[in-house]
Amino acid sequence: MKKIMVTGASGQIGSELVVKLREIYGQDAVLATDIRQIINSAGPFEVLDVMDGKRMYTLAKDFGADTMIHMAALLSATAEKNPLLAWNLNMGGLMNALEVAREREMQFFTPSSIGAFGPTTPKNDTPQDTLQRPTTMYGVNKVAGELLCDYYHARYGLDTRGVRFPGLVSYVTPPGGGTTDYAVDIYYKAIEEGRYTSYIAEGTYMDMMYMPDALQAIVDVMEADGSKLIHRNAFNISAMSFEPSEIAAEIRKHIPHFKMSYQVDPVRQAIADSWPNEIDSTAAREEWGFKVEYNLEKMTIDMLQKLKKKLTKKAIS
Ligand code: NAD
Repeated sequence: MKKIMVTGASGQIGSELVVKLREIYGQDAVLATDIRQIINSAGPFEVLDVMDGKRMYTLAKDFGADTMIHMAALLSATAEKNPLLAWNLNMGGLMNALEVAREREMQFFTPSSIGAFGPTTPKNDTPQDTLQRPTTMYGVNKVAGELLCDYYHARYGLDTRGVRFPGLVSYVTPPGGGTTDYAVDIYYKAIEEGRYTSYIAEGTYMDMMYMPDALQAIVDVMEADGSKLIHRNAFNISAMSFEPSEIAAEIRKHIPHFKMSYQVDPVRQAIADSWPNEIDSTAAREEWGFKVEYNLEKMTIDMLQKLKKKLTKKAIS
């Protein structure tokens, strides 16, 4: 049986991932950890600051973990506000997690991001292997992280795996300060106020994915036959690419009076402008069978349905 330790488990991805992993591998097979305890699923939880490598090691050992899923990080927009903190947490936390995994011979997963690309990267059909000169601290961290994970595999034979996530959309846990957060906020505001002011300019395409597909991708890449992997870390994966007026038009199919306006935030717009329009996921499809269920149309139907229920419940309680 797998014994999985997750860091950053109270975040946008971690909070849903833990629930899914417990459904698949058993309630007690997953140790959720985070610096803050807001996870509400039944099962083991420990407070852990990923900067504390000793405690991370002890928790992994006591739990008998054979898999490390490292999610704790500072995201793109937040990292730009505090680059030094981002460097220390994103690199220090990753190094601690890799070292614990190496010492205990654990399978290892950590996500990279479309933020690992930069303005000189080909913008369309961005290849798996291409120029990566990001201009954000987050991007610098992600490229270094991709290389570190490759290094731990080559140098120590550690079973490291990973994907480059696009912007993730979910109705469960709010996003943690990324550049693509508008694609989540817009659904909340559409239901609550019938209008949304976008901080990203019309015409700015970015890759996106609905959370159920992102969680399945983590499970699939971790379950894949390692001997078939040519790449290991940082597989390009995307489900859709759209710009603000396209998601607004999709929402308008269900909320016809929905109004969209723009007040562009220069910091997040500059980050978005430095990222690809649409990445090519061929390597992930060929090497471990990456696939998605949701496009923009299907995601919008599900988001609006689930979010309406959630917001009505909140209003009643
Ligand atoms: P998030 O910000 O929602 O969650 C991060 C979690 O890390 C939070 O719960 C936070 O409390 C925790 N954390 C912060 N500092 C910590 C510390 N010192 N010790 C322990 N925990 C700490 O982020 P997320 O969206 O869940 O992202 C998880 C990973 O996925 C990150 O590596 C991120 O770069 C990557 N990613 C996310 C997206 C996205 O759209 N959500 C896209 C691409 C890549």
